[in-house]
Amino acid sequence: MLDLDIAIVGAGSAGLTLALLLSELPLKIAVLDKGDAPQIGAAPSLQRVSALNQASRRVLQQLGAWQQLSSKAGFQKMEVWEADSFARIAFDAAGQQVDALGYLVDNEELRQCLFQQLADKANVRCLFNCQIDSINAGEEQTLLSLSGQGPVLCKLLVAADGANSFVRQQLKMPIAFWDYDHQALVCQIHSTEPHGQCARQVFLKDGPLALLPLADSHLLSIVWSVPPEQAEQLLALSEAEFNKALTVASGNALGVLSRASVLSAHPLKMRYASEWLLNKVVLVADAAHTIHPLAGQGMNLGLMDVVALAELISEQVLARKPLQEERLLRRFERWRKAEAQTLIVAMEAFKRGFGSSNPALKLVRGLGMRLVDKAGPLKKSIMAAALGNSGDLPKRARPEFTPD
Ligand SMILES: Cc1cc2nc3c(=O)[nH]c(=O)nc-3n(C[C@H](O)[C@H](O)[C@H](O)COP(=O)(O)OP(=O)(O)OC[C@H]3O[C@@H](n4cnc5c(N)ncnc54)[C@H](O)[C@@H]3O)c2cc1C
Repeated sequence: MLDLDIAIVGAGSAGLTLALLLSELPLKIAVLDKGDAPQIGAAPSLQRVSALNQASRRVLQQLGAWQQLSSKAGFQKMEVWEADSFARIAFDAAGQQVDALGYLVDNEELRQCLFQQLADKANVRCLFNCQIDSINAGEEQTLLSLSGQGPVLCKLLVAADGANSFVRQQLKMPIAFWDYDHQALVCQIHSTEPHGQCARQVFLKDGPLALLPLADSHLLSIVWSVPPEQAEQLLALSEAEFNKALTVASGNALGVLSRASVLSAHPLKMRYASEWLLNKVVLVADAAHTIHPLAGQGMNLGLMDVVALAELISEQVLARKPLQEERLLRRFERWRKAEAQTLIVAMEAFKRGFGSSNPALKLVRGLGMRLVDKAGPLKKSIMAAALGNSGDLPKRARPEFTPD
């Protein structure tokens, strides 16, 4: 039997980051994942990328993973506008005292770099291709049975196993959800005009199209959110027809756009677990919440969950108190639920706000965006949120944090 302090289910960005943060403590930890181990050294495919903010960058840098990422591409500008309207807002890194407003990173390469940093941590074991058969969440400990392997006993079980969390489902932890009625079409594209390190997002009648600049000046990643029927039509188009539709949708902002990788579709759902705790089991990141990708905040939110959890556990361990105390876990839940709720509400407001083609509402949107673009303080607070510098940040994610 593997007898652990903490078992983390899921070796995605959240699970691996948590393992690295906790590896600094005198704890016995294991990460269990049903998939393959990340292939260290494999070239980034750039098929799935995420925009990470400054708060995430700071933490990943402290952990040594950031420095290893070859795919990271900072963007200095951001432009958001509405198609067929004068509504437009622009942001610039100049004056924010940051080198970039955000960074695009390859999801899989991020996992590789985190995994690589774990290699010399003697107190962390990573088990891949591992299937959990059952979970027995007792009041003091949790017992996992794995198929083909011995049982695992842990004081605390952290579920970082993604949007369709097996742990959450097995333990019947309640979840609220709604369909965004959007599918996100994702691929890499080539543009005839250089992107100029500017992240662009255009709100079209049916949903937003994000054009995210990669390291190559003519290469971008797109997230095109459209209703399911439209997604089906776009997926059925020939490559030439798709390129034409995409170029039109972008309003020719970057000249002619053409697909440079396979196109994948991701149904979008808001999920919010109403309970993040059951005995000594805690949900984090996508296992606890998923939001619309229109503001590129899902992974950032999940990373802050695990930084917060690691901070509370660390305080507890240093004070020689039990790491799975109910009081501590409740504190974590209250803290991070408040942050997740703020983003869920903001994403809904964005989606609904831009979801109507009513001419009067369009006019209000246009005037509102122009006003915000000109109004210093409001624009500043939007910028602080996008940079990840607002909200109740864990200590290590704060701009002023300096490691001991
Ligand atoms: C189209 C799209 C674009 C996005 N863009 C951005 C963006 O620009 N910026 C941003 O911040 N966020 C973005 N996000 C959100 C981001 O991708 C997720 O929030 C993030 O990847 C979630 O990480 P995670 O570690 O919680 O889960 P995952 O990455 O899903 O990892 C879960 C892990 O758990 C494992 N697992 C699953 N089930 C089991 C099981 N039964 N047993 C063991 N292991 C299991 C899986 O194999 C996987 O390794 C986007 C999302 C979408 C859909």
